[in-house]
Amino acid sequence: MKKKVVVIGGGITGLTAAFRLKQAGHEVTLFEAGDVAGGVIRSVERDGWLAECGPNTMLETSAAITRLVEDEDLGIADRRRDASPLGGTRFILKKGKPMMLPSSAAGFLKTELVSLSAKLALAAEPFRSRLSPDAAEESLADFVRRRLGQEFLDYAINPFVAGVYAGDPENLSVKFGFPKLYALEQKYGSMIKGQILGARQRRKEGRVTKDRAKQLSFDGGLQVLTDALANNLQGRLRLGNEVTSIGETEDGRWSIQSNKGVVVDFFDDVILALPAHRLATLIFPYSGEGKGAEQPLKALAEIVYPPVSSVVLGFRREQVEHSLNGFGTLNPEVEKVSTLGTLFTSSLFPERAPEDHVLLTTYVGGARSPELALRPEGERVELVLKDLAAIYGIKGDPVFQHSFLYKKAIPQYEVGYGKFLQTMEDFEAGHTGIYLAGHCRDGISLADSIVSGEKVAKKVLQPS
Ligand SMILES: Cc1cc2nc3c(=O)[nH]c(=O)nc-3n(C[C@H](O)[C@H](O)[C@H](O)COP(=O)(O)OP(=O)(O)OC[C@H]3O[C@@H](n4cnc5c(N)ncnc54)[C@H](O)[C@@H]3O)c2cc1C
Repeated sequence: MKKKVVVIGGGITGLTAAFRLKQAGHEVTLFEAGDVAGGVIRSVERDGWLAECGPNTMLETSAAITRLVEDEDLGIADRRRDASPLGGTRFILKKGKPMMLPSSAAGFLKTELVSLSAKLALAAEPFRSRLSPDAAEESLADFVRRRLGQEFLDYAINPFVAGVYAGDPENLSVKFGFPKLYALEQKYGSMIKGQILGARQRRKEGRVTKDRAKQLSFDGGLQVLTDALANNLQGRLRLGNEVTSIGETEDGRWSIQSNKGVVVDFFDDVILALPAHRLATLIFPYSGEGKGAEQPLKALAEIVYPPVSSVVLGFRREQVEHSLNGFGTLNPEVEKVSTLGTLFTSSLFPERAPEDHVLLTTYVGGARSPELALRPEGERVELVLKDLAAIYGIKGDPVFQHSFLYKKAIPQYEVGYGKFLQTMEDFEAGHTGIYLAGHCRDGISLADSIVSGEKVAKKVLQPS
């Protein structure tokens, strides 16, 4: 049966869901509050430079990503660009300078990134006992301190978490923010044992292992993907429409009201692919005795979304002392610099800077220092230039500059996040035909969002 489906939120999650439902022959309408679709994905091309405001690369950890990128209806397969193999080299800031992250066991034994006692703690990890599943929920920091010690937390986990979540490991939940890590301890009693056995199993089954997954983008940046998805929707995309309320009809369908007025259409199914703070404000004008307008998801307003600013700067090659041969550098909090880390963008994608020039993307703010992200643009750029000069030996002013601020960037899956997931589950159970998807429910990476979009489309196609 052909269904009438409305998708609310035109980020990568909502676009993926709408695309798959349209392909399956359903009548889909997508409401997006902004003037362009794509959500946090935004690529800017100017004077031979290409800057990403938000995400830079997508890790191809799932077949769903490959399927989407190669889908003939999108026609963008030939525009795909894989990050250069240089991306396999990563740096961590130590004593003010980028130090290479070892990529092999032999390299780890030799590295000066951590001390001998930290190396011994790693060797002892498989022999540490597992935490009982009934124990109180742990933060990522407590989990790492217990299994690997403080130095690993400071020089491996803290910078990694800044790079992925712009988050603070002291607050993030290991169970909800890093479910795979949590499962490794629960299943195998050890992260290391679990990694080795799990990778062996995945190889046996022919599945992609995370360390081998490709980092990808497109010739015009990630927006190539979201633009192609949006174009595919043709007349079914309603931009500049912020949905404010959702009402139930007597025959069990749903009507949508946006800031542009009531939509006369009624929908069989509704997909909500919104940030948590926007889900929280949605009004449901329930009818029936003793009922009135409610905001059933208002508890989600408590989910923390710290601000993050990206500062993309271009330089002439000779202005930069460092080789920049790698993916980039993550900055541990204990190093006390202002920035979270820097991607060597033109090393990953050389065509993003004019010849003999380099492009760097630096992030400021996050849970570590939200106040810095909110500083005026000129001050943010100054902070970044100061760090870049000290770390990479950069001299002089940038020849290209683009900065962007996400006031609410990435949801923090903090200790206690389970109650928010439960709120979402209860809401779905009480609202037949409405589904929740996206970064505040299914994980924060682009890969997670694409998988989430596909999953929610399948739920609409085959409701349980
Ligand atoms: C700075 C930054 C860097 C990142 N870097 C990476 C990276 O390198 N790799 C990676 O894998 N991930 C990265 N991420 C994470 C990833 O980009 C996001 O998790 C993912 O894009 C989220 O997609 P989404 O569709 O779930 O949500 P969003 O992109 O937030 O989309 C939600 C959409 O809903 C719309 N909307 C909101 N309210 C309403 C309403 N009431 N009515 C209608 N529409 C509404 C919004 O305008 C928005 O377009 C990064 C995120 C940020 C912020």
